[in-house]
Amino acid sequence: MSALLDVRDLRKTFGGGQTLFGAPRPEVRAVDGISFTLARGETLGLVGETGSGKSTLGRLVLRLIEPSAGQVRFEDTDVTAASTRALRAMRPRMQMVFQDPYGSIDPRMTAGAIIAEPMTAHGVGRAEAAGRAARLLAQVGLSPAMAARYPHEFSGGQRQRIGIARAIALDPSLVVLDEPVSALDVSVQAQILNLLAEIQARSGVAFLFIAHDLGVVRHVSDRVAVMYLGRVVEMAPRDALYGAPLHPYTVSLLAAVPRPDPLKERNRPRIRPIGEIGSAASLPTGCRFHPRCPRARLVAARGGDTVEAEGTRLPSACVRQDPLLAPAGGAAHLAACHFPHED
Ligand code: SF4
Ligand code: MG
Repeated sequence: MSALLDVRDLRKTFGGGQTLFGAPRPEVRAVDGISFTLARGETLGLVGETGSGKSTLGRLVLRLIEPSAGQVRFEDTDVTAASTRALRAMRPRMQMVFQDPYGSIDPRMTAGAIIAEPMTAHGVGRAEAAGRAARLLAQVGLSPAMAARYPHEFSGGQRQRIGIARAIALDPSLVVLDEPVSALDVSVQAQILNLLAEIQARSGVAFLFIAHDLGVVRHVSDRVAVMYLGRVVEMAPRDALYGAPLHPYTVSLLAAVPRPDPLKERNRPRIRPIGEIGSAASLPTGCRFHPRCPRARLVAARGGDTVEAEGTRLPSACVRQDPLLAPAGGAAHLAACHFPHED
């Protein structure tokens, strides 16, 4: 069976060219050649810092923005080549939930109207849509009587439940969730993550779950992809990624996830990337993580083929060759690092 979603070498460049006054405008490679597949009913967690390109990738997948290159296939249809009309016909099957339940909900519409809108827009009669909206409210753990209330009468968690009800109203096979719990309290986060798991178990919907920390996606993801400056640098089944991370960037992100056990907390490796995330407008040569990579410094200290870079000695491979995302720990565990097994 072919994948539900098949993303091939997807790219998005912003800027470039010249400003009005003739100055060169920097080109930002926000998404710089990303490929992955998603099976029906699967959850892929997509993790990265602000500026890694994860939200851009989520929007490209649904073609809410136009890609610069590459292809997205969804249910065996080429989304990137689809006409406006074909895309509109596909919309009910591919939905999005946004980070900010306040910003993404129209304050002048009742909860019932917000949930019913995508249904009426796709030909469901008003009475039928209202009835279904009431049932959807119950499905997301809210009272059907709340259909008559306005967004300001709900808490952040309740608003996110409304956003989710709206997204699943037309029984999609894919929902892209862009930081759906980042604006919520930790206890409310857990409730929303449980709700998403329940919905998936019942309907078989697939999720692309975008988050900025590995702690949040751990419980909901079958596989996890880690993004850095427009690329996926590691992708693996959940347990492999958390149990035996191969990319030094993933290792550093995991070191930042708090653990409940204070004993383990004490023994945790203290790996930190050096400095701040760089910019997709001026990508480093070779491996884009090399200016921040603790492993490159460690490998260079052991000798071998090194060069002077970033004021220190680094392996010449790290500075000169862009590492490809390739199997590094079994066929399903991919990493983009020249030294995936050295620490
Ligand atoms: Fe670090 Fe080199 Fe691996 Fe890049 S290729 S992550 S710089 S060790
Ligand atoms: Mg974002």
